[in-house]
Amino acid sequence: MKIPRVVVEYRDKKNSSGKVVDGIIHLVISSRLTPEEREEHIRKLTARLSEKINWARGYQFSQEEGPVKTDQELFRLAETINKAYYNFEFTNISFHLQRSTWGTCSLKSRQIYISHRLIGAPLELLWYVVTHELCHLAEASHNKRFWNLVSKACPNYEQTRKALAAYGLR
Ligand SMILES: [Zn+2]
Repeated sequence: MKIPRVVVEYRDKKNSSGKVVDGIIHLVISSRLTPEEREEHIRKLTARLSEKINWARGYQFSQEEGPVKTDQELFRLAETINKAYYNFEFTNISFHLQRSTWGTCSLKSRQIYISHRLIGAPLELLWYVVTHELCHLAEASHNKRFWNLVSKACPNYEQTRKALAAYGLR
């Protein structure tokens, strides 16, 4: 397993925590711990977050076999993104006959629908549209908080949005 880059910061707080930004692990370790305890926290958090990153990457690599075409594959993709970056609650995701939008989501039933036009689309585009809809489960409007959430799983989302627009015109 490849170990990603780790950035450690010490802060005077009770608990240690960690997150992944742009494929880099950022840890905030409690400065109240003994050196041995600090090391232990760093080791454990790094192992847990590396696993998440490698799991998401492993999924991307497996897509070299072929694009996402079925609802089952779409669900697996959404679950991969969600588990690696968000842990939002969603009930289902499926392809739907949708001409005017790329994706929609229902906050009430927590279901996501992805346009049939994206069946078999390049993974990068589907990855972005699925991420976009997942983030709407936590933030309804396209505000700063929303785009911050999107950037967790799609650091290059601005480029991908352009690619998506071009894909729609094809
Ligand atoms: Zn939106």
